[in-house]
Amino acid sequence: MARNNYQYSRHTTMQKKRRARRALLLVGFIILIGLLIFGAVKLFKKPAENEPPKDTTSSSSTTTTTAYSTTTTTAPPTTTTTVNDAEKEKRSSYKICIDPGHGYDDPGAVSDLSGGLYEKDVNLFVALALRDKLEAMGFTVIMTRDSDVPPSTIVPSKTGLKKLSLTDRCNIANSSACDLFVSLHCDSCEVESINGCCIYYYIDNSPYIAKYAEFVLNSLKAILPDQDYTVEGNTRAKSYQVCRNVTMPSILIEMGFITGNKDAVDFASEQWRQDFAQGIADGILAFYEAYGS
Ligand SMILES: [Zn+2]
Repeated sequence: MARNNYQYSRHTTMQKKRRARRALLLVGFIILIGLLIFGAVKLFKKPAENEPPKDTTSSSSTTTTTAYSTTTTTAPPTTTTTVNDAEKEKRSSYKICIDPGHGYDDPGAVSDLSGGLYEKDVNLFVALALRDKLEAMGFTVIMTRDSDVPPSTIVPSKTGLKKLSLTDRCNIANSSACDLFVSLHCDSCEVESINGCCIYYYIDNSPYIAKYAEFVLNSLKAILPDQDYTVEGNTRAKSYQVCRNVTMPSILIEMGFITGNKDAVDFASEQWRQDFAQGIADGILAFYEAYGS
């Protein structure tokens, strides 16, 4: 049967629609293939040379890492694990006198902020940690005191108190012919918002005294960057006896303010004390390598 005009035009329209559908399907198929190829290339592509590798653990470690462990990982590496026996033998002839301030019947400054913390205890803790770190590096350490129990040789003062005088401390360092001296203290102030560490030295103590203070400062800054630091070189009239009256380069470190609202929290933390000791040890090692060996 012959098709009339209406039938013919309907047939043509349907043919056009079918062609359009086929074209659409073809385009869709091509896009799908393209997407599949793109995905496969992305999957197997290696990172470029200057592209940092993707660290899938970084987000979880960031949230679980404490402030202290973060500072520990960014601290300069110590050579305690890599130092060989020959180097240790060489270092063993280098003597460092560590002087934990106050002690026995003399508590030094006292902090109400961290539950009645005594300066003498903070000084001794950091001093013993420093001794262990320096000895592990191979150095010989002389302590002016290594406990809070007064030895029988200590003569009580006129008021009946047993304490180590500043002259006693200088004599221990001088009679042992030490190469370096470091005295540890905590500062105090009536104003709680006053915080910060200060390294003191006597300007005529040694030609290298400013360098000694600078090396220790830099190592402390590297391991505890959030603390405030000052270095003060003083004249004879203003300087401390343990900086003036010893025959070796000598610094006195006020590690911070035991009365400070930030420092008192640090002082109560064993991790902070270990980090602070590590900072001094690293500075002493750096000074020894530059001027002492
Ligand atoms: Zn003190």
